[in-house]
Amino acid sequence: MYSRTQNENGSYDTRCLDCFLTIARSVENESELDELEARHICPEKALSWLAAQPCPAKPAART
Ligand SMILES: [Zn+2]
Repeated sequence: MYSRTQNENGSYDTRCLDCFLTIARSVENESELDELEARHICPEKALSWLAAQPCPAKPAART
């Protein structure tokens, strides 16, 4: 999930809400934002994925 904020000059900043990393600043158009967000490899998501792996016998509790 990402948080986009618009700057005074009309460009956008986008931030990942999982790891709170700013993915991009001063991006001019939204299609570029989509691309940059898609390219973000989130360390938080990777960690939670790894944390979910050690107990395959347990049924995964998905929220
Ligand atoms: Zn992230």
